[in-house]
Amino acid sequence: QSQELSQVQIDYHAALQALVEDGTRMVCTGRMHTDRICRFESLCYSTEAEEFVFFHSNASVMLPNLGSRRFQPALLDLSSVEDHNTQYFNFVELPVAALKFMPKPVFVPDVALITNRFNPDNLMHVFHDDLLPIFYTMQQFPDLDLESRLFFMEGWSEGLHFDLYKLLSNKQPLLREQLKTLGRLLCFTKSYVGLSKITTWYQYGFVQPQGPKANILVSGNEIRHFTKFMMEKLNVSLEESASEEYIVVFSRTINRLILNEAELILALAQEFQMKTITVSIEDHSFSHIVRLISNASMLVSMHGAQLVMSLFLPRGASVVELFPYAINPEHYTPYKTLSTLPGMDLQYIAWQNTDQENTVTFPDRPWDQGGIAHLDKAEQERIIKSKEVPRHLCCRNPEWLFRVYQDTKVDIPSLIQVIRQTVKLKPGPKKQKWTGGLYPGKVRDAKCQASVQGTSEAKLSVSWQIPWNLKYLKVREVKYEVWIQEQGENTYMPYILSHQNHTFSENIKPFTIYLVWIRCIFNKNLLGPFADVLLCST
Ligand code: UDP
Repeated sequence: QSQELSQVQIDYHAALQALVEDGTRMVCTGRMHTDRICRFESLCYSTEAEEFVFFHSNASVMLPNLGSRRFQPALLDLSSVEDHNTQYFNFVELPVAALKFMPKPVFVPDVALITNRFNPDNLMHVFHDDLLPIFYTMQQFPDLDLESRLFFMEGWSEGLHFDLYKLLSNKQPLLREQLKTLGRLLCFTKSYVGLSKITTWYQYGFVQPQGPKANILVSGNEIRHFTKFMMEKLNVSLEESASEEYIVVFSRTINRLILNEAELILALAQEFQMKTITVSIEDHSFSHIVRLISNASMLVSMHGAQLVMSLFLPRGASVVELFPYAINPEHYTPYKTLSTLPGMDLQYIAWQNTDQENTVTFPDRPWDQGGIAHLDKAEQERIIKSKEVPRHLCCRNPEWLFRVYQDTKVDIPSLIQVIRQTVKLKPGPKKQKWTGGLYPGKVRDAKCQASVQGTSEAKLSVSWQIPWNLKYLKVREVKYEVWIQEQGENTYMPYILSHQNHTFSENIKPFTIYLVWIRCIFNKNLLGPFADVLLCST
């Protein structure tokens, strides 16, 4: 029965002895449950109790040792979605002596990554919550290599996109349900529990209306490393010299339709003089879609999860997101945020249907497809009259669902106009030099010299050397920012300078101590660190 696991041979008696003598050992990174990932030796799982088990012996280790704070609210988040109360991980504790009375343990020999998928049927969630975080969690811990095995504990079946999860490791991922077939007490020889959130860029609106995460830590470079890996696994090669430019329209076929898709395609082809192709999840394989998108000049689609495929666009391409009537594009920005991550080098354009004539509503559908027939008459009236969905929390706001599941006849002239306003075809940054985004170091050897004229006037001459890394870089523009602060005051005078020295005379008083802060700026927006503060007495 456990042939799934038998690819790596382990010595059963040695494994059992390690468990009995050493118990479970856990060392975690992260200070809070929301940023914690734990490494375990001999973590067990009872498939009957559906609980993880920590066995205590004299040799066990539990770091952090939180006491009952481990339940406030949990040891860690199993998914990459922050602090969601359906995604918490914990274990129950037992002395190793209890093993005598328990089912014989079955050992999992592979290094395991134990985690939750958040919503495996929705492509945006699949990439944003699961695939990218799993990929970079595996990069963080060297023993999570291609021979390690993923364990999905959220309890879903494989879901629509299981093939994508399978690309991340050479071993078949296992689902919670399948663990039962392996044994009653499973013990993971070596495992990591949790998921890095470092690559996520969006919060779905569980505690405040949805929007970009407050502190985004990922850039286009890391996104492209991930897509390169996925494309290699999918056997999709990047055509370096794209022969012909083309536009991809990613269509939905079940709901939120573009009603005049044929007309749209013709108009795009004509306007941009490019071949225009449609794809949909229903009609095309994943690798086919990736192959097309990875060489496209423009991706046009209704707002919706399929737009996460912009991940695969080449640098310089454009993303055109269409929003149904009464849906404010500024309030729903997962794909805008993705396209505009630093270094993604995509041009993002939002278009919204503002003409009520061009929308088709479905008040009689089930509530989860936007129906509103279950609401009282006054509320239905209000929703139908409203011109914009007010900001709201996830996930069942009926007005939002009603509006987002409308079909739309796209007003072609207004769409072409907004695209024309932003899109520069054959754009610049496609082959940006890697020096493009490098920051200056500190300025060096900063010095000041004061001179006093009479009792009311003084001058301060400040000089410094270029940052050490500048001599190795080609930088278009180098500027210096200098702040002059009188000691004890909390305001300062800022200056932007082009040279490595300057004499300040404005507002400089004699017999006063000034603090001088200096930093270098490359190309207007790459701000370096301030050098150690300089103390200058006039
Ligand atoms: N989907 C699709 N075609 C459709 C409708 C939905 O491929 O006509 C996909 C969509 O891309 C997503 C999943 O089905 O992966 C769930 O769609 P839903 O409308 O629930 O979510 P949304 O796209 O608004 O995030």
